[in-house]
Amino acid sequence: MFATLNDKLNGVFKRLKKQVRLDESNITEALKMVRMALLEADVNYKVVKNFIGSVQAKAMGEEVLKSLTPDQVFIKIVHDELVEILGGKDYDEGKIRLNSQPPTVIMMAGLQGSGKTTSSGKLAGLLMKQKRNVLLVAGDIYRPAAIDQLETLGKQLGCDVYSDRDSRDAVKIAKDALEYAKKTAKDVVIIDTAGRLHIDEELMAEIVRTKEAVNPDEILFVADAMTGQDAVNVAKAFNESLEATGIILTKMDGDARGGAALSIKEVTGKPLKFIGTGEKMGEFEAFYPDRMASRILGMGDIVTLVERAQESIEDGDAEDMAEKMAKHGLDFDDMLKQFKMIKKMGSLESIMRMIPGLNNISMGDMDEKQFKKIEAIIFSMTRQERKNAKILNSGRRKRIARGSGTSVADVNRLVNQLNQMNKMMKQMKKKLGGSNKLNPAM
Ligand code: GDP
Repeated sequence: MFATLNDKLNGVFKRLKKQVRLDESNITEALKMVRMALLEADVNYKVVKNFIGSVQAKAMGEEVLKSLTPDQVFIKIVHDELVEILGGKDYDEGKIRLNSQPPTVIMMAGLQGSGKTTSSGKLAGLLMKQKRNVLLVAGDIYRPAAIDQLETLGKQLGCDVYSDRDSRDAVKIAKDALEYAKKTAKDVVIIDTAGRLHIDEELMAEIVRTKEAVNPDEILFVADAMTGQDAVNVAKAFNESLEATGIILTKMDGDARGGAALSIKEVTGKPLKFIGTGEKMGEFEAFYPDRMASRILGMGDIVTLVERAQESIEDGDAEDMAEKMAKHGLDFDDMLKQFKMIKKMGSLESIMRMIPGLNNISMGDMDEKQFKKIEAIIFSMTRQERKNAKILNSGRRKRIARGSGTSVADVNRLVNQLNQMNKMMKQMKKKLGGSNKLNPAM
């Protein structure tokens, strides 16, 4: 996500840092490079023009030229302008506005393959985490597998799904589903409407009729970020016939450039509310312009990271572990448990990108394969060995390496890691004055 732009902008900032002082000529030079970086990231040219214009006006002002840290002031200006094009500060923070008289009705629209059905499920999952009672409605009756797909997602999430396989009337299905939702006291109804290959009259007519029948609180247009400016144009065309209340951009994980995300708000005038960052149900985030601007500039995004940790780690788990670590030290079972907690938070790469300073480090040997290897080694240990690393003599290490299909060096490395972790724990404990209360959120 935004990897190309991140690299290019960092290059610009590095060059600026090397300058003894900033003047009009090197600011102009830097702006030229920022402009190129944005165009290469496939950002809409009008958006780029406005962006550069605003940055230029601010950067040429006294604020930068007279500042003691002109490069930092320049980065701050670029950051603020990025926030602006991504949605601005007075933004409703990606949340769904819930109707005071439930159920809140959300209608999903989008082209076939954009990720509409998947996003319906993901949004249901997100709202369920907020303790909402959600009904998913299988309204995409034209794509044969869509009903099955939504039912499978529903099962996976533990979410009620309304479908009517015999009906060919999407509008009636939506109406009936709403009645069912009222009877079963649902808080939120998410209607997965029919997709088409193009925005055509037939599709729009059906969506308009569905809208009139169920009077949705939110109409979310789902677009595939990997299609770049096409995604922006389709969203614009849709919005001209039927006003969306927000946009969901999917497949951000497969989009290194980020052009759609950086253009869609300015071009359509509609806020980007959520982004899909992978195929799994949890790979979905509310979109926050300021956090995203920080990620694009390689400043990390600790706020999202902490939130994800809080969601992923079950209450008590972190506290239990902290207490145990402080009393007895860590064993291999704890190590496995920790890795599992991290895994639940998403891919390692996506986590590292949110940590300031780590976002530019290549994954190298910290990849998912490494996780699998560690798991295999620990699974090849006996119960006793997992609890007590001290008994791992060379004979045992050889056996474990053979059993896990790894080498003795790999096993040694893992044992050292565990020792290292325990050493760090001891030092931390000393620093905290013996307190074993670590932050349960982490
Ligand atoms: P629909 O026709 O719009 O309902 O599209 P689907 O929900 O069936 O999604 C089409 C394909 O895109 C499926 O293979 C999904 O797994 C995949 N997909 C959806 N969202 C994402 C995402 O955020 N990231 C990735 N990598 N794949 C996604």
